[in-house]
Amino acid sequence: MNKSISKSELALRQAIIDKCRWMNGAGLNQGTSGNISARFGDRLLITPSAIPYEAIEPEMIAAMPIEGDYGSFEGPLNPSSEWRFHLDIMRARPEIGAIVHTHSTYATIIAITRREIPACHYMVAAFGGSNIRCAPYARYGTPELSAYAVEALRDRMGCLLGSHGMIALGDTLDKAMWHAVELETLAKQYYHSLLIGGPVILSDEQIAETAAAMKSYGYGAHRKEDAKPRGRGAGKLSG
Ligand code: 13P
Ligand code: ZN
Repeated sequence: MNKSISKSELALRQAIIDKCRWMNGAGLNQGTSGNISARFGDRLLITPSAIPYEAIEPEMIAAMPIEGDYGSFEGPLNPSSEWRFHLDIMRARPEIGAIVHTHSTYATIIAITRREIPACHYMVAAFGGSNIRCAPYARYGTPELSAYAVEALRDRMGCLLGSHGMIALGDTLDKAMWHAVELETLAKQYYHSLLIGGPVILSDEQIAETAAAMKSYGYGAHRKEDAKPRGRGAGKLSG
């Protein structure tokens, strides 16, 4: 084990690997498709390219400076071929701490038909607006794909990638994976609704109202500190 890796960095590297294994086990991704990164100080920790998740060890995770020498990395293996969009998203979005990219089935079905996901369900509001955009197609790993992804993610916590898959963002790894699960669920629901006549689309006002309500919803209550019972178990709800 490399002695220069601190305990906290090691824990984050392990958490990235655990999330990769979890997403494949949960059916949210398959094989060596997809990749995950997390911000650690001024560096990006990112899965290596084309290595089965069961075989990844913490020291195989690549570390890239977020600012500075673009594309340089430390690690025994090449970083994910999608390092550009991971890095460019982290540069453009300082509030983002983790990025999940998957080829999950339903999100990819919508992406290969080059549709966005409209406001077909109120959970679209959790992504920051009235739609989840679909970025135009560009070959995997290219600067073009990265530019399209950054644009499709403007003011959003997730997007589809044309004929490819999806990207989900979060301030933490848990939140990014939460968005990935919700995005795949929305894509599945939207797909099935198209088979029976198409969804009723919520208005911008309804989505804005939902987004406001979500600020006080236990959105993120899966975090231990948020999930703790508060006070003595009493409260008052507005009528
Ligand atoms: P990597 O194995 O290089 O991360 O690539 C997988 C992928 O999903 C490319 O878009
Ligand atoms: Zn991909």
